[in-house]
Amino acid sequence: MVFEISFPLARCSAAILFSVMVTACGSGNVESSSANSSNPQSSSSVTSSADSSPSSSSTSSDGISDDLSLVVAINAGSTASATYNGVEYQTDRYSRGGSVNETDDPISGVSEDAVFQSERYGTYSYEIPVTSGTYTIELHLAELYWNASGERTFNLSVEDQTILDAMDLYAEAGHDGAYNYIVDNVSVADGTLDIALEAIEDAGTLSGFAVYSADGELDTSVPVPDCSGYVGLTYDDGPVNTTAFVNALQQASLVPVTFFVNGNNIGNNSSSITQMLSVGEVQSHGYTHTDPGSYGYQQIYDDLQRNNQAIEAAGAPKPTIYRPPYGTLNGTIRQAANDLGLVAITWDVDSADWNNASASAIVSAVGRLQDGQVILMHENQPNSLAAIPQIAANLEARDLCPGRLDPNTGRAIAP
Ligand code: ZN
Repeated sequence: MVFEISFPLARCSAAILFSVMVTACGSGNVESSSANSSNPQSSSSVTSSADSSPSSSSTSSDGISDDLSLVVAINAGSTASATYNGVEYQTDRYSRGGSVNETDDPISGVSEDAVFQSERYGTYSYEIPVTSGTYTIELHLAELYWNASGERTFNLSVEDQTILDAMDLYAEAGHDGAYNYIVDNVSVADGTLDIALEAIEDAGTLSGFAVYSADGELDTSVPVPDCSGYVGLTYDDGPVNTTAFVNALQQASLVPVTFFVNGNNIGNNSSSITQMLSVGEVQSHGYTHTDPGSYGYQQIYDDLQRNNQAIEAAGAPKPTIYRPPYGTLNGTIRQAANDLGLVAITWDVDSADWNNASASAIVSAVGRLQDGQVILMHENQPNSLAAIPQIAANLEARDLCPGRLDPNTGRAIAP
């Protein structure tokens, strides 16, 4: 594989020393074998496009060979499209996991800021459905958050090859500085072009990317849900009305969801757990519905262990997340849960269905959910059942999709 580097502001004509270009301006392509000690990519695997294709190809001002056609360009972390170097970057899609952030700050090093003013951050991936072929990917990055080096470092890989190794964007381009990187000759034969970010310090970040190819294209036979983000739909206190909920969720294609169940409601009715698993995940709400704030450590531990056993006996995987009844959380509760491999969480938005909120009020509560957030609902509340079709419509109108809950953080992420 051959890599190629370019830097922002292809409009500057003179070649400038590598280390200067990231904060000032640069030519489209850089022969980087000499002056790139500050670059995370080792020089041995970096060449300019002139080295890899010495014969006839020409390159445009953005460093992309004119022989290549645009496959897709994505404005990561944004629900708006944006233009950069004459390319239209579509609203964020194809991501699995990550969180989003945007800024109004001007971006240094480029005259078109928009693509760089949003980011998807975290440890996550993009999975782009493409036909077999050879691809060139132009990555766009910026440090939108930190004001010092060492605060954020991450790895970025393309098709499992590390491209940016312990990347420190602040060290490379400063705060709000544009950083572009071109990855050439990426061969894809498995139907999916993978871009993966892995946090070392804080979080990985990517502001956008454009994919080019001479022989490959988007695989449009793969349906792509238009998800700008994911929200966690959760139903507590079951199993109680599972058949009705599962049917309604399936009919509205409102999946996946998460059920927080009480073992003493399972009884001999393990089929309800099987039904739940057909539309999402089953997690722990305690064996009984007692407020764990009234318990000592051992009582909590025993209750949670008993619930884990009941859930597993009904055929579900061992729970990883515990939502305490009434949302009661303290250090003892967290510790007991943690000792059983459970992360204790509550919610971001309370639907108030337990307090007789109407179906439309429940839909309004769903309307307040932002990417990554989780809403509390209940399986024993008819209004939450009635709200399901409108919840699906609300989320679809906002390009949000149901997600699963991250077992480490409790945040909603791509299924
Ligand atoms: Zn409850």
